[in-house]
Amino acid sequence: MCIVCRYRFNQKSLLRLQIKNEKLLNFTNQGRSFYLCKCCISTKDCIKAICKINKIKNKDNINSSLKEIIQKWEKNKK
Ligand SMILES: [Zn+2]
Repeated sequence: MCIVCRYRFNQKSLLRLQIKNEKLLNFTNQGRSFYLCKCCISTKDCIKAICKINKIKNKDNINSSLKEIIQKWEKNKK
């Protein structure tokens, strides 16, 4: 389930991410993770939702690492 829109999607169309030391990462198979869908990933609500569930104060950090993750993901699809 996407943490922003709360719709259920096929796992393939979701990105599995996690927070480690206040940094946003692709899931490393350890610790807590969460999912984001394609539609929500580039919205402002997405950053808010990530910070909220992970109790993060520094949104700028999340914002820049999210952009990197999106870029990598877009490349992998092609
Ligand atoms: Zn979503």
